[in-house]
Amino acid sequence: MLSTLGLGLWFLEHDQNITLARIVTDKYRVPDFPSPYLHIVMKKLLLITVSVLCSLPLFPWGFYAHRQINYYAVFMLPPDMLVLYKPNIQFLSDHAVDPDKRRYAVAAEGARHYIDIDHYGNYPFDSLPRLWTKAVDKYGKDTLQAYGIVPWHIQTMLGRLTAAFKEKDQVKILKLSADIGHYIADSHVPLHVCSNHNGQLTNQQGIHAFWESRIPELLAATSWDFLLGKATYIDNPLAFTWKRVLESAAASDSVLHTESSLTAQFSSDRKYSFEQRNGQFLRQYSTAFCHAYDQQLNNMIERRMQQSIVAVASFWYTAWVNAGQPDLKQLLNKDFSEEDRREFDELNKAWLKGQAPGKNCD
Ligand SMILES: [Zn+2]
Repeated sequence: MLSTLGLGLWFLEHDQNITLARIVTDKYRVPDFPSPYLHIVMKKLLLITVSVLCSLPLFPWGFYAHRQINYYAVFMLPPDMLVLYKPNIQFLSDHAVDPDKRRYAVAAEGARHYIDIDHYGNYPFDSLPRLWTKAVDKYGKDTLQAYGIVPWHIQTMLGRLTAAFKEKDQVKILKLSADIGHYIADSHVPLHVCSNHNGQLTNQQGIHAFWESRIPELLAATSWDFLLGKATYIDNPLAFTWKRVLESAAASDSVLHTESSLTAQFSSDRKYSFEQRNGQFLRQYSTAFCHAYDQQLNNMIERRMQQSIVAVASFWYTAWVNAGQPDLKQLLNKDFSEEDRREFDELNKAWLKGQAPGKNCD
């Protein structure tokens, strides 16, 4: 593969949480080697490159799953909600990733995306009160913030979305719907509910993006089903959220162990491959490794994405019902203000140039 491209010079970039290996073929082309030397040089170069890359986290493709989850949640809504959500489906999908971008601009944002629940003992973590006020009484706010607050932040967002429906404020409804979709989806990811969130404690760095980006992007469009029926009313959103969080926690062991047991069966050159994307060659988990992992997990990732979609639609629906089912054809504040646009712009800028503190979940 490399020999057809001339001599490749690998560059490592660490920007926007994306680690890229770029082969520069033009500017750094060198004179031809006699073929035996070329072979040896290329082999050494490849080995050095692979060993360097193995020590770095890979966050290659970003936000695909979050966008898909908000997008497909729209199709589960009743007609009275579709009048607003369907014409704005692109906004809801595009802005599903705003909370991750916000992590680069707002220090307090990071903790809203995860909970290191294993900090609080063993499954089912009974020592951790499910109610925020009781958890604060027991552990204090600083500890809760340090180990993540996603289950409680979802309730905060539900309250805000319900208020926005009551105010009939279209802009707020759309922004908060996009945001809450993100946090709900994060709570369905096992590695968002586990202190070993990127396999950093078990030498499995990169597993986070492997699970939530690489595999969905490879398989979702062609083999996964996201048309899932109707949203349902959630009687007890806090209990619902904790149920999903505990499911994620219970699954985190399989997510990690399956990867390590498969790694033992795959040589490095079979576990990883180089794939071209946007004119660049990226080192990536190979298609064969992805399929084997997905199979051993019994389609867990598809199921968690499906459950995320159902949950997002059901939270939107619950907020609307709890607000008294306002007529969404008669809303106020329908246009994004200059301030809204500036905020979106600033989120993008912070994300493009930023290194977020704490964990990555994109
Ligand atoms: Zn997130």
